[in-house]
Amino acid sequence: MSHMLSLKNLSVSVEKKTIIKDFTFQFKKGNIYAIMGPNGSGKSTLAYSLMGHPSYSIKRGKIKLAGNDITNKKPNERAKLGLFLSFQTPLSLAGVNIFQLLLVAMRGKREPLAIRQDLESYAKELKIKHELIERALNEGASGGEKKKLEVLQAAVLAPDVLIFDEVDTGVDIDALKTIAEFIRKHKKGRTYILITHYNRILKYLKPDEVLILIGGKLMKTGDHKLAHKIEEKGYDWITKTA
Ligand code: ADP
Ligand code: MG
Repeated sequence: MSHMLSLKNLSVSVEKKTIIKDFTFQFKKGNIYAIMGPNGSGKSTLAYSLMGHPSYSIKRGKIKLAGNDITNKKPNERAKLGLFLSFQTPLSLAGVNIFQLLLVAMRGKREPLAIRQDLESYAKELKIKHELIERALNEGASGGEKKKLEVLQAAVLAPDVLIFDEVDTGVDIDALKTIAEFIRKHKKGRTYILITHYNRILKYLKPDEVLILIGGKLMKTGDHKLAHKIEEKGYDWITKTA
């Protein structure tokens, strides 16, 4: 089994405060992972540092993507090597629609017609209204629609590793089911890392492995049953038994 994304003794600080502490884990190809944790446990910090956000400095450790050391690489270089991050709060871009954005992102790599075809067929699978993909990105889109548009962008870009921060926040139940079904269908050959506070999406999408982050530390790993246990018992028992 190949390790798509490997984190070794990763420590990350923000504003001189260490948030992620000694995080070691190997994410495999073809698997769906859920990272769960209470508010402020460092989930978004981990996502941003994986993408190379300049405010999050890596103090120690190593990040490898498909064998390449990306610890010190810039966000665009990481993206080129196959990493995609969907933000907790998707951005709006004045006057630019999703097709125009993808054209720029994939310039020279794929024909516009092929991009257009993928966009249309994935949008259909995601039950995204046609007018929404013609409109400027995220303009007037609901929470659920914005998340779907993020998933759509990711699908067309076809990265190896997809990280979705707060994938289920502000998303209604129908959109949640549609997104879960889409991810399941397009799981092969990819690595999904779904960051979530709740068990909501995990009811429709069984993760292969669940990681619990508390106080910036990887406290526990388990199968999908661990997510259900969290729903029932919260997080406190983990810190008590660790
Ligand atoms: P989560 O996503 O799990 O809710 P975050 O990664 O957003 O947690 O935050 C973890 C901790 O890091 C919090 O204590 C938060 O205040 C701090 N933090 C995150 N980003 C910043 C930042 N840009 N500046 C200062 N502190 C930050
Ligand atoms: Mg967060």
